Amino acid sequence: MVPLLQAMDHPCRADQARVGIINQSEINAANGGNCEFYVTMGLLRRANDDQLRGVLAHEVAHQDLGHVAKAQVLGASLNILSAGLQQLFPGAGAIAPIAGELVARGYGRSEEFTADKHGVEILSRAGYNKGTMLDALSWIRRSSGDGGGGFLSTHPALDDRIATIQRMR
Ligand SMILES: [Zn+2]
Repeated sequence: MVPLLQAMDHPCRADQARVGIINQSEINAANGGNCEFYVTMGLLRRANDDQLRGVLAHEVAHQDLGHVAKAQVLGASLNILSAGLQQLFPGAGAIAPIAGELVARGYGRSEEFTADKHGVEILSRAGYNKGTMLDALSWIRRSSGDGGGGFLSTHPALDDRIATIQRMR
């Protein structure tokens, strides 16, 4: 997570970044604005490191591009901090498991495409290639049949987005 934050045009300081872990089985993630990010347990349980990195790069790109945050957590209540989570997001300022439901209304179509593109730029600055983003999006598409609908409902047009990234040099 921290290498991605450092590769932003307007980097989030690691001690400023917050990651909320939502107790929800759907695969989803969101940018809450002010360097706050949300990921669901479904994402953490099912994604491998690269897939998680690709999804986070997309959300970090939304933050970097100043896309107005539309993520909200309903019925949120802070839980006890779990030590294990710190290893998933080393160096992040605060990590808090949250019981509640992530409600992220989608960004506009063009914002999604720019976030993918900028996410690829952030990945490459951090030493990864666009395959990381492609792999993450393809994985979400494959998983959508069994409960991955969260990310899809807030992030439409997956096929177009994959094709657009493939055309990037
Ligand atoms: Zn997005």
